[in-house]
Amino acid sequence: MNSPLPTRASAVIIGGGVIGASVAYHLAKKGWQDVVLLERKQYSCGTTWHAAGLVGTMRANETHARLCEYSMSLLPELEQETGQSTGFRQVGSLSVAHSQDRFEELKRVAAMNNAFGVTQVDIISPQEARERYPLLNTDDLLGASWVAQDGTASPIDTTMAFIKGARLRGAKCIEGILVTAIQSKGGKVTGVITDQGDIQADFVVNCGGLWGRKIGQMAGVKVPLHACEHYYAVTEKLPDLPETLPVLRDHDNCAYIREDAGSLLVGAFEKKAIAWGQNGIPKDFSFDELEGHMEDQLMPILESAMERVPLLQEAGWRTFFCGPESFTPDDQFHLGEAPELKNFYVACGLNSVGIQTSGGLGWALADWMEHGEPTMDLWSNDIRRMHPVQNNQLYLQERVTETLGLLYERHYPFRQYESSRNIRHSPIHERLQSLNACFGELAGWERPNWFAPEGVTPEYEYSFGKQNWFDYSAAEHRAARENVVLFDQSTFSKYQVEGRDACASLQRISTANIDVAPGKIVYTHWLNENGGIEADLTVTRISEHQFWVISAAASTQKDLNWLKRNIADDAHCTVTDITNSLAVFGIMGPNSRPLLEAALQIDLSTPVFPFGSWQDVEVGCATGRAFRVSYVGELGWELYVPVDQARHAFDHLWEAGKAFDLKPAGLHALDSCRMEKKFVHFGHDVANEDTPLEAGLSFVCDMNKTGGFIGKEAIAAQKENKSWMKKRLVQFLLQDPDAMLYHHEPILQDGKLVGHLTSGNYGHTLGGSVGLGYIRSDVAIDKKMLDDSQFEIDVAGKPIPAKASLSAMYDPRAEKMRS
Ligand SMILES: Cc1cc2nc3c(=O)[nH]c(=O)nc-3n(C[C@H](O)[C@H](O)[C@H](O)COP(=O)(O)OP(=O)(O)OC[C@H]3O[C@@H](n4cnc5c(N)ncnc54)[C@H](O)[C@@H]3O)c2cc1C
Repeated sequence: MNSPLPTRASAVIIGGGVIGASVAYHLAKKGWQDVVLLERKQYSCGTTWHAAGLVGTMRANETHARLCEYSMSLLPELEQETGQSTGFRQVGSLSVAHSQDRFEELKRVAAMNNAFGVTQVDIISPQEARERYPLLNTDDLLGASWVAQDGTASPIDTTMAFIKGARLRGAKCIEGILVTAIQSKGGKVTGVITDQGDIQADFVVNCGGLWGRKIGQMAGVKVPLHACEHYYAVTEKLPDLPETLPVLRDHDNCAYIREDAGSLLVGAFEKKAIAWGQNGIPKDFSFDELEGHMEDQLMPILESAMERVPLLQEAGWRTFFCGPESFTPDDQFHLGEAPELKNFYVACGLNSVGIQTSGGLGWALADWMEHGEPTMDLWSNDIRRMHPVQNNQLYLQERVTETLGLLYERHYPFRQYESSRNIRHSPIHERLQSLNACFGELAGWERPNWFAPEGVTPEYEYSFGKQNWFDYSAAEHRAARENVVLFDQSTFSKYQVEGRDACASLQRISTANIDVAPGKIVYTHWLNENGGIEADLTVTRISEHQFWVISAAASTQKDLNWLKRNIADDAHCTVTDITNSLAVFGIMGPNSRPLLEAALQIDLSTPVFPFGSWQDVEVGCATGRAFRVSYVGELGWELYVPVDQARHAFDHLWEAGKAFDLKPAGLHALDSCRMEKKFVHFGHDVANEDTPLEAGLSFVCDMNKTGGFIGKEAIAAQKENKSWMKKRLVQFLLQDPDAMLYHHEPILQDGKLVGHLTSGNYGHTLGGSVGLGYIRSDVAIDKKMLDDSQFEIDVAGKPIPAKASLSAMYDPRAEKMRS
């Protein structure tokens, strides 16, 4: 029964689907008083009610695996606590492979998940698969993966258990209340307006599922998601169907199958989905189905499912179902505080895993709200990873038709999106195109990943081994190490921080001393109070009161948000995003000096232009700034040129480069070079759960600077207790030159699992795959310990011997960069 609408709440949660219910439960469990959940119609009436209820733990990253594992372990607990069944049954899950590439992927994913240590994934033979799933046609199978702990749950019952649990702990959950507006003051949320009255609130949480983007708009917050049609079919009851039949996934045929109350339910992840709701969601949409496009979307998948499970050929079909689910541009959900509005949190865009993630997600978000920061590495789901352009209606509508299918597609390394492309361009895009660049996409940007030789079409041919561009990228890498190349790095995030308090504000935020003379560039971290790394970037002093902050393309919104959150309201300091106004050309390699001396007509010798400094330069008739830094570990300069003059500057450099055999190089070569140099990448090798000490970057922390920095106390404590010696970032070089590393491969020390890689790529100079990853130990990790151990990296289930090092294997003293 509904309680009367309160006028005040600590937190108002909008949406009574499984996610809103879980957030309410977890906030109440944490002891939050006056939590209110508002549902416009009835609980679970949006997407939740019609979910197929698969609950699995095998995921593509550790955070997701941990969230799913928590979700699963919570279900029986929730039943006990509330007396409400969740319908959870642990029947196991089986994923089959009938192509070599899929089998390779299953083996890699199994190794990765076993390394996370949250679930046990076994690779089994076709015969063993048949033993577990007697209805399976195994004629063409190469093998399968098996997860005993996976299962199914009832979406509606799970939602009701969360609601009941939340209520038992004092939360008010109310149906039939439509939130019509969000209120805010001074950049902070203050409450909601509903069709039945207003509620003042300290926090508001958008758990609106399909409606999440619209609810975001009410608050001026971008929540990039869009609904797609999503299908399944259910057979008539089948006699003698075992209740304990595992969940079956046949990814290459886009299908999953589960037992459902004596019937078989066959679900679809078709390659090209159909977007839904472009013209708005009908006002009274509640427990509704969509008409869909059964013939084109569902039927081909049912046919292949009948081959895989021949019993389906004899079954009558009771239901052909189509319902909407929301998908995001990168198949990762949106979580956290919106950068546009303080205390307005988001938990939506579940990409068809909302039921299985609900418990973990509710817990993670409640924790985030309580601490004001995520307490685990949630960067891949952080709403701040999204760029404003990604909230564009057409962009979303096209992209989600691809992302739904990608969930079951082969997850090849370097796989690029095909939809919603060619939106953001570097000013020299056409020049790069005429040089035969193969572009990849990030947040709408087209970025050159590699260049094909003349006469070769610049297109990826994906595989888990060396792909078609391997040799071309190797040549770019060698040109960077031995001669000179040009990288287009225009997509770097760039911010101008200025004002009388700019120096003091940045000094408090940065670990390094940025109060340097104008003309200097400082590499620094930004830390949270726990010493975890929130950003890895450079701060450049332009003048007494003006700085440039330069960081990776992916983190524009996050870094901006971090700056704004940590600059005092009354500080005389403004931040402007100048990303789109400057092009950046990295001229890197031992011949960069003579080339640039010819092109810029200035002396670039180290005494005149030392490493870590910048100068105004003229590039032909254009004006710009040259920064002496390098992410590839070679002598080089990054030239910052206003966008209006970028083409001219490029042409000028290119012309001057002819005498030096200047080559264009792409981001794959850049990454390969930085891996050899053990330069970290934010979001992979360093994030909020890692400290600079653990990453081997203690030099970024100036413990003696006046006023300290955010996180200094945590770093001082870690220095004192030496805990960082037991978790350290190590560089690995595989001893088999043909084995390929990408990310997340398990690290074995003397045969024992001690961690997993955070990134991997081929090191063309070192002559093998290079990986970075943290290892953990009960004893101090130092050079001797590494030298005394035998390391192996598990590549698709095969341990490959690896050399391990704490310092960079390539140019450990950084002499080349500083020459
Ligand atoms: C065919 C299909 C099969 C699926 N199978 C699985 C599966 O096997 N396993 C799995 O994990 N997931 C599955 N899913 C996905 C899962 O159903 C969703 O991820 C999950 O239900 C999303 O929950 P939610 O709470 O975010 O959204 P919803 O359930 O849509 O909840 C959002 C709620 O917000 C309410 N609301 C919106 N606007 C307002 C407002 N202004 N004021 C108040 N209330 C508002 C809505 O009425 C709605 O109830 C499947 C989805 C589909 C479509």
